[in-house]
Amino acid sequence: MEYDSNGIFAKILRGEIPTNSVYENENVLAFEDINPKAPVHILIIPKADVPTVNEFGPEHKEMIGDMILAAKEIAAEKGIAESGYRMVINTLDDGGQELYHVHLHLLGGRRMKWPPG
Ligand code: AMP
Repeated sequence: MEYDSNGIFAKILRGEIPTNSVYENENVLAFEDINPKAPVHILIIPKADVPTVNEFGPEHKEMIGDMILAAKEIAAEKGIAESGYRMVINTLDDGGQELYHVHLHLLGGRRMKWPPG
């Protein structure tokens, strides 16, 4: 899939759309979801232009690791490390992906259902 540099997350990375940022390092940026589905709902996005998980390659290994480590650290900061939380990466249509820049959802602060709908 082609990367859309006019997408919302591309604009967020360029500073063209404001967010409530909660974490940043050289590989990832994390900010609050604008339409939260749980008391804690953070999006962690890579700084690389990768539209879906299908475009991940071996060159992204460190970045992928940083996405999960960032989520773990944010969970602790938000006070949900002990109560529990969920990480989700929706991929393409059946996965429910709406924005084509990879993003990891960190959700917590309430009991999650399983299996998801
Ligand atoms: P997905 O359905 O996995 O592609 O998730 C896209 C997510 O991006 C949704 O949870 C939206 O609420 C969220 N979102 C859309 N626009 C913004 C924005 N400007 N700032 C923060 N989150 C956003």
